[in-house]
Amino acid sequence: MLLDLKYLLSHLPPNVDKRDAFLLIQYTLKINYEKLFFIKEIEITVQEFDKLMECIQLRSEHMPIAKIIGHKSFYNNEFKTTTDTLDPRPETELIIDLFLKYFPNRAVPLSILDLGCGTGCIGLSILDFYKNSTLCLADISDKALSVAKYNAKNLNLENRCSFTKTSWFNDVKGKFNAIVCNPPYVEDNYDLDRDTLYDPPIALFGGKDGLDAYKKILPYTKQFLCDKGFLFLEIGLGQSEAVCRIAEDLDTIEIAKDLQGINRIIVFSINSI
Ligand code: GLN
Repeated sequence: MLLDLKYLLSHLPPNVDKRDAFLLIQYTLKINYEKLFFIKEIEITVQEFDKLMECIQLRSEHMPIAKIIGHKSFYNNEFKTTTDTLDPRPETELIIDLFLKYFPNRAVPLSILDLGCGTGCIGLSILDFYKNSTLCLADISDKALSVAKYNAKNLNLENRCSFTKTSWFNDVKGKFNAIVCNPPYVEDNYDLDRDTLYDPPIALFGGKDGLDAYKKILPYTKQFLCDKGFLFLEIGLGQSEAVCRIAEDLDTIEIAKDLQGINRIIVFSINSI
């Protein structure tokens, strides 16, 4: 059958914009995104049409594009994501920038821990820069760990990765030069937008005040950091003071703002610098 692109784009349901439609067409019909700007009609099969309509329907029900197509770009790479993992978010990319700043020598062999790794996007993005380093990816969810394993393999990084099923530090062994962590920090009763509700609640909600995970992580961090080690920790809106208070035996080195000007990442160390 012949798909009239102009007709399709002018009859999209609410919540589905043109860019979404292009991404879904690219995904279902395997057509290069740029090419779509020059095509008026496409010959497609009935199955392809049905698949495209199904995807457009899901998007109109607020499912994020990343959850429909099953991957999202983060820093330099593309990561598989599912309903068992938090979709990689642009503000989290700031951790990678800070890591590169605090460890300027990329040849140094670091041992890195991604605590609550989800897709593994933070740790794996870093490991991709530090060719002599190793990464432990830790998560409480078996399903998230298998997504992280897929991503490690897909990026050819799996031979420098290990995987640990654990609730925060409970079953983590050893000491690390750096720990990266984006824990759940949304307050339990916070009214999240509908797109976010496709992410797993365990990766989003951090108890009544959103601080539960920090209370489980920060008092034990010192034991797991090597001398001159750093913790790079993501926080939610307005949480920096409370989080620094919980981290009373760590030194706050930097509180970095995201592109919206919100305090987003705290760098902690066990030694003042
Ligand atoms: N930044 C995410 C959101 O508000 C939450 C991620 C998290 O809890 N770590 O959608």
